[in-house]
Amino acid sequence: MTYPNWLSQRSYLSGDRMALSFEERQWTFSEINDLALVYAGKLSALGVKADSRVAILAKSNPDFVFVMYGCLHLGCEMVMLNERLAKAELAYQIEDAQVNYVLVVDVLKEKIDAANVILFSQLDETEPAAFEPQKQWQQDRTISIMYTSGTTGNPKGVRQTAENHFSSAVSSALNIGIAPEDVWLCSVPLFHISGFSILMRSLIYGMGVRLYEKFDAQRSAEEICNGTVTYMSMVGVMLERILANVEEAAMPASPRFKAILAGGGPIPVAYINRAEKCGIPVLQTYGMTETSSQTTTLQSADAEQKIGSSGKPLFLYQVKIDGTEEPGEKGEILIHGPQVTPGYIGKFAERKVQEDGWLHTGDIGYLDNEGFLFVVDRRSDLIVSGGENVYPAEIEKVLLAHPAVREAGVCGGPSDKWGEVPVAFVVLNKEATADELLVYCREQIASYKVPKQLLFVEELPRNASNKLLRRELRTWL
Ligand code: ATP
Ligand code: MG
Repeated sequence: MTYPNWLSQRSYLSGDRMALSFEERQWTFSEINDLALVYAGKLSALGVKADSRVAILAKSNPDFVFVMYGCLHLGCEMVMLNERLAKAELAYQIEDAQVNYVLVVDVLKEKIDAANVILFSQLDETEPAAFEPQKQWQQDRTISIMYTSGTTGNPKGVRQTAENHFSSAVSSALNIGIAPEDVWLCSVPLFHISGFSILMRSLIYGMGVRLYEKFDAQRSAEEICNGTVTYMSMVGVMLERILANVEEAAMPASPRFKAILAGGGPIPVAYINRAEKCGIPVLQTYGMTETSSQTTTLQSADAEQKIGSSGKPLFLYQVKIDGTEEPGEKGEILIHGPQVTPGYIGKFAERKVQEDGWLHTGDIGYLDNEGFLFVVDRRSDLIVSGGENVYPAEIEKVLLAHPAVREAGVCGGPSDKWGEVPVAFVVLNKEATADELLVYCREQIASYKVPKQLLFVEELPRNASNKLLRRELRTWL
């Protein structure tokens, strides 16, 4: 099975529509396609071929988009590098992916020490060579390779095929719909699946993308209120900052604005309620690099009754809980569907991602009696204390609700009596004693879940995606 080349097909079908807007500039789909062909010619002149694997390190701006689309025309595999990673972390991924070339924007060149670097300025100076754009794309063609955030161990290089991206875009459209006037505001990074999936939707739907190089809460709030955009993707902290701006402006969201898609972790209910007051529907979603973006999404209409849920699977997908029979029973979340990666590359190439057609996510969760998914925690962070399962996320949530606590991280510490016991690390935003916080915990959770030790620290270990590294916390004990 093949698809027609998405760039040529889109330019042929609706070439005059707005494809991309950045600051004061705009490009239509046919302009984007022409630019992508020029970039493909330049890459070709520098030796990049159809089956080359190229890593890209760039800022989330139009140049990055054109270089990626040039790679798509040529038919190469793109390894997306995260500009927030340290030099050694980038070197690890470049080595692991065995790339043929590394395309680097000049301002980030200090971060890369690899052979076969092509700077963006070199691309600018190169005359395009004649080449044959790929007319057909195989369904199983690897479009992108993205490394997981490395929250539970070394980042794993995930292959994302044309079929993965296509089914993800179609499933999302079946859930929230598409309309000719839609413009998706992208201020999440393009190297991450949250941003890249917006570009894929744009090509597949013929939808405009409003791109920001960096997240800007105030500008985003303005665009939501004046209706220049209709959708936006974000993580929880971004949502809070946008709401603060909308509230301050005391202006409701434009009726043209349809929804915010919020993922990456649980979204506090307080934010959802505030968003509702501002007239902004929020769709909570659960997904991962291995599923090319959303797998389940909670509609805002259900948000109130299903507090804390990540919703139901999109139409083409299925979710089940390993080894459970009854609703509410916790176990590993398994996922089936055409959005699931065929596998990892490099060091993890041998690791099977699917067993009997199901992706084993490593996340613990449950389905309620109406089939709504609740994500509880990572399996690798589970603490077994005296035979009882203790989920660090539950304890962190309790601590975070205390007004003196800014950040909280919980991990298992050794105990002769219980095997393991929960230990908490807390960053304060105002004075409080450990006893005070422990009394607070005792009021809300069973005593075996109350941390046996509570330590105050200046900051918690986090990765480039700002995710808490509980495995590092264990080494602090
Ligand atoms: P690694 O696989 O390297 O440990 P990672 O799993 O953090 O890193 P990503 O693919 O970026 O890398 O993140 C996906 C994970 O984020 C999910 O497996 C899940 O643990 C968490 N997550 C995503 N959405 C939600 C959500 N709505 N609620 C709770 N957790 C979520
Ligand atoms: Mg993961």
